[in-house]
Amino acid sequence: MKRVLYLLCAMLLVFCSCTAAEEPASDRLQIVATSFAPYDFARAVAGDMADISMLLPPGSESHSFEPTAQDILRISNCDVFIYVGGESDAWIEGILDSIPHDEITMIRLMPMIECLHEDHDHGIEAEEHVHTHEDHEEYDEHIWTSPVNAITIAQGICDVLCEVDGEHADTYQANAKTYIAELEEIDQAFRDVVENAQRHEIIFGDRFPFLYFVREYGLSYHAAFPGCASQTEPSAATLAYLIDCVKQEGVPVVLKAELSSDKIANAIAEATGTNVMTFYACHNISAEDMQEGRTYASFMWENVETLKEALN
Ligand SMILES: [Zn+2]
Repeated sequence: MKRVLYLLCAMLLVFCSCTAAEEPASDRLQIVATSFAPYDFARAVAGDMADISMLLPPGSESHSFEPTAQDILRISNCDVFIYVGGESDAWIEGILDSIPHDEITMIRLMPMIECLHEDHDHGIEAEEHVHTHEDHEEYDEHIWTSPVNAITIAQGICDVLCEVDGEHADTYQANAKTYIAELEEIDQAFRDVVENAQRHEIIFGDRFPFLYFVREYGLSYHAAFPGCASQTEPSAATLAYLIDCVKQEGVPVVLKAELSSDKIANAIAEATGTNVMTFYACHNISAEDMQEGRTYASFMWENVETLKEALN
């Protein structure tokens, strides 16, 4: 009986995925983005003119994403595919070899930006550093964490959409203009916070996807790990160093990223009598935040307030 049930389920699944695949796409532009930031930028620029989806399931870890067969189908059926073009979505190159993609407009975001090399020092001046990566140094992929870069990216996406779907170019341009105006306000808000701050250093008890952000606003940082390194346990020396930094500088808040363990940040905060706050990288979004309709801009506004706490 059980076996029959499984079989039925399997058949139903196959049937459903077949009909989904054959369902005629709507007239609207079909946009697929790999992760949350590009998805949200496309959403802001395209508005109602496109059906936009994100491959990364909300709440999941963005660095270990592997596309499913269904994802590959979605990519091959879309009109515009947007990806960052760094380490996390390096799998795309392999997929493009295996699917016909002449009809798909590819938007790779990293070439739009003057990319920075990953910072392997992660703001820790301890002797433990051995530079073994110098030979194949990579560019940091977290370009969208700077609102200034987000402006460039939004304009870049707008330019491509206008080309692909000229009929709605006016709408894309109007949407981009409104969106970029808000990003400029966010940028100015960060500048105001930094300009009026008591200190210009942030402490991250976490990985650190904010290199573009700190460089843009002239902040220094100390983090448990560089970039989005896969380590999860900092060395005792690093932990001691971060605790020392917090004490010496009188830093009031230890930061961590969203969808990340707060273990290290909590350990530092406990040892120093400070608080832990979340600073959003917009790598991915939780299912709950997605449901609530949160956006890159809403997370950045929250970051403005958090930064104010952390620098004063
Ligand atoms: Zn990352």
